[in-house]
Amino acid sequence: MMEKILLKYGEIALKGANKSSFEATLAKHIRIRMKKYGDFEVTRAQSTVTVTPKNEDCDIDGAYDACKKIFGIVGVSRAVTCEKNIDSIIETLKACAPDMLAGCKTFKIEAKRADKRFPLTSPQICDECGGAVLETVKGIKVDVRHPDEIIRVEIRDDEAFIHPDQEKGAGGMPVGTNGRALLLLSGGIDSPVAGHMICKRGVKIEALHFESYPYTSERALEKVAKLAELVSEYNGYTTLHVINVKEIQEVLRDKCDEDYFTLLLRRFMMRLAQRCAEEFKCSALVTGESIGQVASQTMDALCVTDSVVSMPVFRPCIGLDKEEIVEISRKINTYETSVLPYEDCCTVFTPRHPRTRPEMAKVIAQEERIDVEGLLERAYETMYTYRREE
Ligand code: ATP
Ligand code: MG
Repeated sequence: MMEKILLKYGEIALKGANKSSFEATLAKHIRIRMKKYGDFEVTRAQSTVTVTPKNEDCDIDGAYDACKKIFGIVGVSRAVTCEKNIDSIIETLKACAPDMLAGCKTFKIEAKRADKRFPLTSPQICDECGGAVLETVKGIKVDVRHPDEIIRVEIRDDEAFIHPDQEKGAGGMPVGTNGRALLLLSGGIDSPVAGHMICKRGVKIEALHFESYPYTSERALEKVAKLAELVSEYNGYTTLHVINVKEIQEVLRDKCDEDYFTLLLRRFMMRLAQRCAEEFKCSALVTGESIGQVASQTMDALCVTDSVVSMPVFRPCIGLDKEEIVEISRKINTYETSVLPYEDCCTVFTPRHPRTRPEMAKVIAQEERIDVEGLLERAYETMYTYRREE
């Protein structure tokens, strides 16, 4: 049996004049993602993209799962194709209905004719096909109102498609249709979720991680690289840049008040992130912060950290409770990696009583005690791009 993957796109269909460039971007993503699973042809017509394996070696199961992780697609289904005559349709349906209806008690057929010259009307196709299913699948019943499964029979121009109702796709918009941003990626739960959420709206991301090697370990960095890779399942490929902030941390520890340590470090991170974003043509920063989650994320603290950058800082998790963030991280499969107990640079020299209501004048006074520009320069020079094995 020949199978094809059908992908419905949602919001992008509404984008007027931009529609064709959105569609082209989506098709490009699909082509790139499918490469891993074999030689596929990707075509589009009437808000549907059809992914057709070109030979027997294609991994259609893998391709189908990957399609569920492409932003811009709202519905995914697998269709069996056959010649467009009723005998061939019935024969194919009999062969695939037991699998399609596994675990179901009720079903209905919905038929659609794109080719109106087909000799049977849609209700006639439904009757014939419904009868064939009832003969083939033991114990199954028809329920036209609330069926457990809908089998769709579509008569297209060249062939007929038989497929179950579509599964939900990833939604959102194709990555790359809404600019580029730099994600500050820690080893925690929140920042991969933030990255996922911004990508969903069509933003292509690169990631920046601050390490504190040798205070932080190789293993800790590998964990972050793994998170970047997991976010890539939706984002395409996420380039990971790394900057070492060890010297900054040592200077802050030695020269500044302990209760301002985290906040001052965060200001350094934001300044470095903006430089990195400019270098890699990203026009915004993204963090995993959520109001009030920790001392450095109170309103006052966020204002103090934001004031060192001119770029917009997007925080997709800002209004989410921790449990809600955890729920998303489980869904996108980053949770298990995020909770691995390796140290982060923020946990090195953690202050006992961080400021929750910092005063800007005090922050500035502390920064006057140290060579901010020199520290930034030297930290920025440590930047490198992490190379992962493909
Ligand atoms: P997460 O779970 O993402 O680590 P968190 O709740 O631990 O977040 P913080 O450690 O205060 O919060 O960090 C807030 C945000 O700052 C993170 O979501 C991330 O965007 C950024 N950040 C923190 N540490 C780093 C780091 N070492 N490298 C890059 N970004 C970081
Ligand atoms: Mg963290």
